[in-house]
Amino acid sequence: MSLSTLILVAMGIGIGFGAVLHDFFPSLIAPIDRYLLTPVGTSFLRLIQFVVVPIVFSSLILGLTRIQNAARVGRYAVKLIVSYCVTSGIAVGVGLVLAIVVRPGVGVSGIGTIDLGTIAESQSLIDWLVSLIPTNPLEALRSGNLLQVIFSSALIGVAIQLVGEKAASFVSFVESCYAIFEKVLSLILYVAPIGVFALISSVIATEGLQLISKLFSYVFWLFAGSALMIGLYLLMLFILKAKPIKLLQSLVPALSLAFGTASSNAALPVILKDIQEEYGLREDIASFAIPLGTALKRDGSAILQGFNAVFIAQMFDIPLTTSLILAISLSTFLVSFSTPGVPGAGIIMMTTVLGAAGLPLQGIAIVAGVDRLTDGFKTVMNVIGNVSNAIILDRWESQQSVEVKEKVSLES
Ligand code: ASP
Repeated sequence: MSLSTLILVAMGIGIGFGAVLHDFFPSLIAPIDRYLLTPVGTSFLRLIQFVVVPIVFSSLILGLTRIQNAARVGRYAVKLIVSYCVTSGIAVGVGLVLAIVVRPGVGVSGIGTIDLGTIAESQSLIDWLVSLIPTNPLEALRSGNLLQVIFSSALIGVAIQLVGEKAASFVSFVESCYAIFEKVLSLILYVAPIGVFALISSVIATEGLQLISKLFSYVFWLFAGSALMIGLYLLMLFILKAKPIKLLQSLVPALSLAFGTASSNAALPVILKDIQEEYGLREDIASFAIPLGTALKRDGSAILQGFNAVFIAQMFDIPLTTSLILAISLSTFLVSFSTPGVPGAGIIMMTTVLGAAGLPLQGIAIVAGVDRLTDGFKTVMNVIGNVSNAIILDRWESQQSVEVKEKVSLES
């Protein structure tokens, strides 16, 4: 069986095992979760995080040194930011329109599951922007902050090009780091099915599938919103002749990991490998765009935050005025770019969106119970959005080089 099939099978068995435990052996849930499922799941998440920083750092430096000039790095960044903004705007629209049309929050109440005191406040936007600049490169690597790692690698990558020959030994050191950590990743992936099994069955055993039925309309429409957005991306890729089916096939292991771990960061090393080896995306684009998108691009979170805010407004009978909708749209758009790629990040960021829109934070307690489940497909959406934007950049670049060639041949 291939790795992706094994991960999917493990996920299915995990859901079944968790449901049986929850329904028939409630007294066993606490010890099994405490001594088996949580330690195994957390160990797997930690193992996969172990390779994220070295792989992003080395692949970005190698990718950048292969881009012949520094100006091209800037051009990639600008084009990506433009396409991120357009597609995130669409994602925010999908979440908001869906919630306004289907009105999932009307008549829902009394499913509080967490103590609001446990939710940490998220950072302000200005603090977040300033914190992207690391005070030293080793600190960036140590902290594991993906944007700081990207910032350091991009700066070092550009300097390597300017230094020339003198940087050769550093580049070969980075090359061997990359080879070593790619091997470490392939070893870790052998235990991925076990990790995914433990993570999923822990959620189902402790939360139970019943919770979904109480918030069925919330979960169902969020899922539908993500499916709609994925459909839009596939259509866009089809129009760009970018082989959407081949893309989905090559991403099966990465998407199953994204669903099982609910972490874009955890899926990153596998996306980076498969998008080049299986799908065939150019190395210089993949090594730059995929880590950047993993750090910034969250279509799933954009859909969720807008949808969730309208849901909470409906639950508390708060009228949806134009200014409320504008406040929700803007804060959702900004928050989607600063949500970290870790499980449960969406819950923390909800405080920012609800706070900015003046909506009651108590709503979070109601949706928190299903967050781990919606987080799975939200993360799948995040990964597909990230990868699609990298491919859009690739098409944009090829289109531009065709135009340049045509212009040169017309002139000569
Ligand atoms: N879990 C999501 C991710 O890793 C982030 C979120 O919670 O919104 O992409």
